[in-house]
Amino acid sequence: MTRLTTLTGWGRYPRHATRLSAPRDTDALAQALRMGPAIARGLGRAYGDSAVGAHTISMRHFDRMIAFDPASGQLVAEAGVSLAEIIEAFLPRGWFPFVTPGTRFVTLGGAIAADVHGKNHHGEGSFGAFTDWIDLMGADGQVTRCSRDANAELFRHTLGGMGLTGVILRAAIRLRPVESGWIRQRTIPAPGLEAALDAFEAGMDATYSVAWIDCLASGAALGRSLVMLGEHAARADLPTERRARPYQTPPRRRRSLPIDLPGFVLNPASVRAFNAAYYTLGRVKSGAQLVDWESYFYPLDAIGGWNRLYGRRGFMQFQCALPLDAGRAGLQRLLQAIAGSGAGSFLAVLKRFGPQDSPVSFPMPGYTLALDFPLTARSLALMPHLDRITTDHGGRFYLAKDSRMSAETLIRTDPRMADFAAWRQARGLSAQFASAQSERLGL
Ligand SMILES: Cc1cc2nc3c(=O)[nH]c(=O)nc-3n(C[C@H](O)[C@H](O)[C@H](O)COP(=O)(O)OP(=O)(O)OC[C@H]3O[C@@H](n4cnc5c(N)ncnc54)[C@H](O)[C@@H]3O)c2cc1C
Repeated sequence: MTRLTTLTGWGRYPRHATRLSAPRDTDALAQALRMGPAIARGLGRAYGDSAVGAHTISMRHFDRMIAFDPASGQLVAEAGVSLAEIIEAFLPRGWFPFVTPGTRFVTLGGAIAADVHGKNHHGEGSFGAFTDWIDLMGADGQVTRCSRDANAELFRHTLGGMGLTGVILRAAIRLRPVESGWIRQRTIPAPGLEAALDAFEAGMDATYSVAWIDCLASGAALGRSLVMLGEHAARADLPTERRARPYQTPPRRRRSLPIDLPGFVLNPASVRAFNAAYYTLGRVKSGAQLVDWESYFYPLDAIGGWNRLYGRRGFMQFQCALPLDAGRAGLQRLLQAIAGSGAGSFLAVLKRFGPQDSPVSFPMPGYTLALDFPLTARSLALMPHLDRITTDHGGRFYLAKDSRMSAETLIRTDPRMADFAAWRQARGLSAQFASAQSERLGL
């Protein structure tokens, strides 16, 4: 039932030896938890080491959808059900997740534990805003139902608590009614950072907003971006021939990257050339268009195993949030440092965050910048510099993307985490639930 293996997160770095269990029911899960400190794992889409520990418990066998109430849109499902499975079952019936990250291959447990955000945080908040209750198993095998009304403290620390409060067994979340599987997208080319941030502010009423940002552009073009606003299309927005089957979108061929690409494929010159071409193409195609839900929400899901793009050594993601007031200056400094180093990749994303009330979740009102870096000496040397700029501008880092931050940086940027560690200690949770990340960060 338990085997010794090596596991990583999506970035394939760092690598950890672990005992891996994959229980099939609650009795087997309770038994696995009696073996000592453990951490739950969903689909392993967190980039770093948050879903691997000395003992890792895969929750993939907890994959049943239990109940759906069409009056409220409430879905009760087990923690191992993925957003992809939810969309497959519910989009044809007119429902879509309220909040989704940039991949649909995440589990309900992983989405709750990281309290993930989508392109609509500025107006609608994070995944937790649409989570009604959670059933959580403790190390003693007892299951506690927690919600805003019952065991509220446990509920609030579980949303964003990165699996460190117990194992999420099942949860009730709410889905959004939609009239089609299409998005009305408006692309706004922004020749520089100021224009991009202005476009976000002007687009605060849009349900979705996100920008692809050219992190290697410099000088007057620093921060040039394609800002994409989106709304779920009503049936009446579709061309007449699509109205009879509004949820049907063209099937997309999923391709897979069969091999690790050699590191030199993604060098600064190739990334710079790609970015320039992508921005030019985006400018040409700017304006309003109808795009299918997969293209708008999950462009990367079309390439299975794209994490092999960065070669065998793996990669890391840098994601910070910056407060609204210092955000512009902070982003400018970050982009100058990244463009100056030539180390960034073409996968760089900027979003606007709105209010967030939580003792542990990542978002804060302001902006979030996320970008991938191949694991090279050059990018590793750049990271402490980016950490410092983020710290100096009152920002913080996303644990679901972190693979290398120091405990000192975490506490300096996010003092709430010292309270979280003390909260865990006081309840005996530190000795029961631990990941490689929680140990590295002193959580
Ligand atoms: C291409 C890509 C795009 C992404 N875009 C976004 C984005 O836009 N916004 C965003 O917020 N995130 C984003 N992410 C990150 C991703 O959404 C989160 O890391 C999410 O937690 C992954 O879910 P998972 O099921 O793979 O969980 P895992 O990676 O397996 O685990 C993540 C965390 O959840 C905990 N966990 C998992 N299951 C349980 C459970 N049953 N009980 C208790 N704890 C559990 C783990 O212990 C761990 O701490 C992206 C990731 C990728 C690869």
